[in-house]
Amino acid sequence: MKLCRFDRNRVGVVRGDHVHDVSAVLEQLPSLRWPLPLGDQLVAELERLRPEMERLADRAPPRPLAGVKLLSPVANPGKIIGAPINYNDHIAEAMSDQTIAHGRDLKSIGETGMFLKATSSLVGPSEGVAQRFVDRRNDHEAELAIIIGKGGTNIPLDRALDHVAGYAIGLDMTVRGPELVCFRKSIDTYSVLGPWLVTKDEVPDPGRLDLKLWVNGAIRQNSNTRYLVYDVARLIEFTTSYYSVQPGDIIMSGTPSGVGPVKPGDVMTVEIERIGRMEVAVRAA
Ligand code: MN
Repeated sequence: MKLCRFDRNRVGVVRGDHVHDVSAVLEQLPSLRWPLPLGDQLVAELERLRPEMERLADRAPPRPLAGVKLLSPVANPGKIIGAPINYNDHIAEAMSDQTIAHGRDLKSIGETGMFLKATSSLVGPSEGVAQRFVDRRNDHEAELAIIIGKGGTNIPLDRALDHVAGYAIGLDMTVRGPELVCFRKSIDTYSVLGPWLVTKDEVPDPGRLDLKLWVNGAIRQNSNTRYLVYDVARLIEFTTSYYSVQPGDIIMSGTPSGVGPVKPGDVMTVEIERIGRMEVAVRAA
């Protein structure tokens, strides 16, 4: 199932080029009192609510996707977790280009660990990227995004995929520079998730997906998730060896080579096999 959030926080099931409004399912979410549990409550209940969503989608009139505004399919992630250097060809390009590395000694992901992006940076594709510091290098990073469905900590490798709700396309936007990575990558709109969440049953092997990014129609990134240094299961094991994850947490799995600058007026197109394609416009903040 492809689940999206669109327009004014409508929930939709995507079938082909159409969206079916299933927002009535939100009435079945538990009513919660403060303090709210960490994580996204729709993702937490996704397994339970999925049959009802499919039924609602069968009855809802199809609307063309082209006519709706796609928001991040996860509304309330507790964390956006990033993998800094998880494709060897990206490590090589960063090491050979000081406008990327800025004097940092790039080690392996195992030595560097993961980073966090502020959840306030998250938008959907239709919202676009509002670029700050337009005089500095602002890069696109196309990434497979993993959406956690079942929380846990110290999750072992062989059970890691049980904790996945699904996948989406992630854009880990970055202003290059000497500041801490969590600061530079947390600018409002610098985390794009879309165009929808694809449940994991539609992605039998997340380690074999073509991933491509174009800027204004020119290809910039073209790789496959088979080149991930830490694959999806290992990323979950590694991350949760340090901290717990909750439903709706997003892991951006890292970017392959080909990162490069964008400027206001550019349009990024990102595609991942079995997930879909999204266009994201860049403007000045
Ligand atoms: Mn990244």
